[in-house]
Amino acid sequence: MSDYILSIDQGTTSSRAIIFDKAGSIVSTGQLEHEQIFPQAGWVEHDPREIWDNVREVIGQALSKANITRHDIRAVGITNQRETAVVWDKTTGVPVYNAIVWQDTRTQPIVDRLAADGGVERFKKRVGLPLATYFSGTKIVWILENVPGAREKAEAGDLLFGTTDCWVLWNLTGGVDGGVHATDVTNASRTLFMDLETLQWDDEILGIFDVPRSMMPDIRSSSEVYGTISENSLLREVPVAGILGDQQAATFGQAAFDQGEAKNTYGTGNFLIFNTGTEIVHSKNGLLTTLGYQLGTDAPHYALEGSIAVTGSLVQWMRDNLGMIASAPEIETLANTVEDNGGAYFVPAFSGLFAPYWRADARGALVGLTRFVNRGHIARAALEATAFQTREVIDAVNADSGVPLTEIKVDGGMIANNTLMQFQADILGVPVVRPVVAETTALGAAYAAGLAVGFWSGLDELRANWQEDSRWVPKMDVEERDRQLRNWKKAVTKTFDWVD
Ligand code: ADP
Repeated sequence: MSDYILSIDQGTTSSRAIIFDKAGSIVSTGQLEHEQIFPQAGWVEHDPREIWDNVREVIGQALSKANITRHDIRAVGITNQRETAVVWDKTTGVPVYNAIVWQDTRTQPIVDRLAADGGVERFKKRVGLPLATYFSGTKIVWILENVPGAREKAEAGDLLFGTTDCWVLWNLTGGVDGGVHATDVTNASRTLFMDLETLQWDDEILGIFDVPRSMMPDIRSSSEVYGTISENSLLREVPVAGILGDQQAATFGQAAFDQGEAKNTYGTGNFLIFNTGTEIVHSKNGLLTTLGYQLGTDAPHYALEGSIAVTGSLVQWMRDNLGMIASAPEIETLANTVEDNGGAYFVPAFSGLFAPYWRADARGALVGLTRFVNRGHIARAALEATAFQTREVIDAVNADSGVPLTEIKVDGGMIANNTLMQFQADILGVPVVRPVVAETTALGAAYAAGLAVGFWSGLDELRANWQEDSRWVPKMDVEERDRQLRNWKKAVTKTFDWVD
């Protein structure tokens, strides 16, 4: 009897393997962090081989903790940090360069070059995205232009590109011995190269970027059998049957399957996804148009997305670069030593500003300082930054959809912070709701895999698994909320024009 689904969550800071049962409950977890490599200001890399080694190891951890074997696992799902680009040699399996991470801003000159003819929105209608360093396309170009020999090898058909789902899938299914080179529609929709209507690579855009089509993986649905795991694995012969980019996986794990449903994830960055059903909606307010999910041959579901680059990573920065706290949760204790932000506002535009501003020239600012302000106020301002940025993204979603959200389903590491969640409800003016299974990212990938192999019967069964754990309701009066928002917007304007 195969009673479980194993989900691989290849995230920005760590890789996890989580085993789920039929109720969608966690049976066991394996987890390992990988090194964050910062070779220069603005550059962020991961070692793809370290990631692959960790994935193998966490699978072993999860199986042994649950005391089960591959015979108990019906299928494997993969979810991943999106946009992070790996380019490897298909004849050796060796990456030609480190993975260039989604937060990396080195490709700004490539963005500027491509935007010189037609502006950053030049391909937005076709692919849903503005030209920005965030997406994988410009990262591939950087590797082809800067790694010695890469261009020639790529032209010869020897190099493969993939986001980390694709890198893990290729290795799981045999690597140089016939590994499957495929990705799903949600990951493909983050490259700048996938046509939203045809769900295929756009040859004209690939040509403009000068990226050989032979490097690109097959684009498949989010829920189907891509291949089976190879001989030299603890999971040999188990099918890999689900792939969803992390934010789309969290949306799926929150059971936000239908048009008008949404979730907001609070991790390294924040990502709000609003399901627009089978309709492609183009934002007038700085949101991305992206794929939500596609189940087998069913019509794809689209989404609007508000991405915020820096939220939880501001807390990490205060821990690692300033030493103000010893651990992330301590920020709450420090914030609670004061009543309010004392007039301080912290705009963490460390990688420019993403939604709804899309300002590559922005850099961080801490404003409103007086002799009164102390460490507690700064900690509070750092937490509040996450809530203010989220409010601006939700305003954009409401304006685009015309139907205001009446509550927000949340997940991610930062939602453990009650002070932040209460302030979030206050600043939004709508309730914030947390589910029992907060590991919605891994759960979403498990759902996609389980649906493909008949482990779950359909979306209704999954919807019944969703249960509310807690709810924060707004308490702040409207005048105070409006005053705070005015100050925040003023603070944001102080971050512009910092890059010359
Ligand atoms: P990701 O999946 O993006 O790696 P997670 O969802 O695991 O991220 O969330 C980790 C982030 O949450 C880190 O950036 C960390 O600083 C932040 N974080 C974790 N616990 C807390 C807390 N109690 N208060 C504020 N931030 C926190």
